[in-house]
Amino acid sequence: MLLDLLQQAAAEREAQALTRRRRIAHTACAPHQSVGAADAEPTPLLTFCSNDYLGLANHPSIAHALAEGAHRYGAGSGASHLVSGHSLAHAQLEQALASWLAPHIPEAQALYFCTGYMANLAVLTSLGTAGATLFCETLNHASLIDGARLAKADVQRYPHGDAAALDTLLRDSASQLKLIVTDSVFSMDGDIAPLAALLALAERHDAWIVVDDAHGFGVLGAQGRGVLEHLGLRSERLIYIGTLGKAAGVAGAFVAAHATIIEHLVNTARPYIYTTAAPPAVAHALLTSLDIIAGEEGHCRRAHLADLIAQLRAGLGVLAAQAGWTLGASDTAIQPLVVGDNAAALALSATLEAEGIRVGAIRPPTVPAGTARLRITLSASHTEQDVARLLAAIARAVPVAHQHREAA
Ligand SMILES: *Cc1c(COP(=O)(O)O)cnc(C)c1O
Repeated sequence: MLLDLLQQAAAEREAQALTRRRRIAHTACAPHQSVGAADAEPTPLLTFCSNDYLGLANHPSIAHALAEGAHRYGAGSGASHLVSGHSLAHAQLEQALASWLAPHIPEAQALYFCTGYMANLAVLTSLGTAGATLFCETLNHASLIDGARLAKADVQRYPHGDAAALDTLLRDSASQLKLIVTDSVFSMDGDIAPLAALLALAERHDAWIVVDDAHGFGVLGAQGRGVLEHLGLRSERLIYIGTLGKAAGVAGAFVAAHATIIEHLVNTARPYIYTTAAPPAVAHALLTSLDIIAGEEGHCRRAHLADLIAQLRAGLGVLAAQAGWTLGASDTAIQPLVVGDNAAALALSATLEAEGIRVGAIRPPTVPAGTARLRITLSASHTEQDVARLLAAIARAVPVAHQHREAA
């Protein structure tokens, strides 16, 4: 019977320390957040697990723009984009995003989606038709993996960051359409894909490259335009996906690519066509978010974030070595402290929480077995004192980690 089967599966998850539980935030997304059950007094926690890298999720100007958008356009869009839901706010947002990516993609246009998950399904299913091959990096985000599963194309995988292996696969492929598919900043590791090398391969082997910049848009690049600006890349072979619920602080995502590709998505991408358009107010709020990202304030926030990343890494490298953990080689706001064992990662997360600090323990299947970790994320809304407090709490947990290791 279904419920018995599911209860057994739940018991197995529990035995492997793999049960996932949601927590309830009682206050806005911010470093200091109150968290707890709906019917109890929440606990204030210093949080290092959001993807709100620039601290814009709770920015008063953007919240105000959201309210203004609701006054102007109402609460809902009422229909999908191709029916009647496509508003002036959506069109203005797409135009702004297209001009952001224009230095990097010739004849760029942009298409706004409700979520990054849907944007990835759309790109991979619309372009990855029968006869095409998707060359997918092994550490890609789940939404790219699912897009590849749904696509009719053949799928080949290449090892993390391994341009030489990809070169061989591309050379040996007789596929009529080759698409390289990769995260830019890997979501659980924080490192950056070797995109210049991948683009050179795309040019050599007549392939295209789908780049998911969920963790780069807004944060990377001098003007926050993302990984293409950061690495100084330009090519019509680039099909770029940026998400707008992370550094941009609101919700949704967009694809930027050559106008012909965007036109094809509008006409064929089922995750675009068969869903209600996001509220126009959300797009309206994003216009303000883009202004902040591109302006002086965005610049200052990125500079402050870079200082915090350096501060954290300087302290954490030493502690990781003492405890026998591994600090991933990341220069971005995502800093993985790899503990290894699922239960040990949960225990470390619980130890920090007892000190009022929230850092998520990430376990399989989100990361490979044996690499359970604390995924520490920094935001421009953290202070140096916040980071110092995290480091001090982790330092107090190092002896505990030693005892566990000796007992094991
Ligand atoms: C978060 C994320 C997505 C999904 O974006 P949403 O807008 O949250 O659906 C896609 N790709 C990567 C790499 C992500 O981290």
